[in-house]
Order: sequence, then C-alpha cells, then structure tokens
Amino acid sequence: MDLALQKKIRKESLKYFKKAGVVLTEEEKENKLQIFDYGTGDFFKVGLIIVNFINTSRYCGKYLLFFPRQSAAEHFHPDVEDNKGKEETFRVLWGTAYAYIEGEPTKNIKARIPEGLENGFMVRKEVILNAGEQYNVKLHEKHWWQAGPEGAVVLEVSSTSRDLYDVYTDKNLNFKIY
Ligand code: ZN
Repeated sequence: MDLALQKKIRKESLKYFKKAGVVLTEEEKENKLQIFDYGTGDFFKVGLIIVNFINTSRYCGKYLLFFPRQSAAEHFHPDVEDNKGKEETFRVLWGTAYAYIEGEPTKNIKARIPEGLENGFMVRKEVILNAGEQYNVKLHEKHWWQAGPEGAVVLEVSSTSRDLYDVYTDKNLNFKIY
C-alpha cells in the first residue's frame, strides 16, 4: 500500500474516532493507527484500523474501526503453547456491526459477502450489534465481521493478542499491517 493512501486512510479514520467520542493522544494519532490490510487490493472492502493501546502477557485492549461495509476476514484464535486461544469481547461504541459466528446460518444476512472472496466468509450465524451492544467470542470460535452502512467503532477487550497465530479460513487472506 503506498504512502499517500496510508496517509489518506489514517486521516479519514480520525473522523470516525471523533464521531464515536474516542479520544486518542497525539502520540497515538501519529504512531498507533495501524492499517490492517488483507492484501485484496481494496482495503476499504476487507481491512480495518486498529489502535492497540495495551497488550501484555495477560490481557489486551484495542479500538477497532471498520469503514462503511468494511469486513474483517474469518479466523479463529488457536492455543499457542501453554496459552489458551485468545478470547475476545467486541463492544460497539458507534455505528452498527454485523458479527458472524458458527451455528445455524441466518437467512438473508445483512452483510454483503465480498465478491470473489466467499471462502474467507463461511460462517453465517448473524448477530447484529448496535452501539452499546457486545458479543463475546467463544474459545476457538470462528468469526468475521462487517460494518453497517455508516461504519463502526468498536472496543475490543481480550486476553493477550498474538495476531501472527490467528488462523484464517481462506489462507489467501493473510494480513499485513501498515
Ligand atoms: Zn478474532
């Protein structure tokens, strides 16, 4: 991803954090807005912004931003050596997010599956999350997300984050952080 686009994305993302009432320090704005891209060539379709404000050997806290209709690809968090897989709670602070998890598939889901990337978005039990609502991802549960038409700002609280070990359903959707 070229630098001009990275700059544009970071600038754009600040508008959403502001709308959501999420206050970031100048240092975070400069150095902590991670662009999480899945290499599809269209970041605004599959990708997200992450502000990882704490990640220790025991717990983690992040703000996530999904632009309108943007998705995070399906994955789960495996055990890593003696550590159980990451457990996550997603609480929507602003906008609407659609969460998809294992279980009875929902008919007529609200998300639009990114064209040509169906293999990365297989589980179809839908949970709709509006501001103030949350979902607790179960241990080893497959999950993916898409923001509603306005986008979504989400608070994630979890056990330790070890992104490199995440297992993606579609192996072609490997992420890169800018
Ligand atoms: Zn996850």
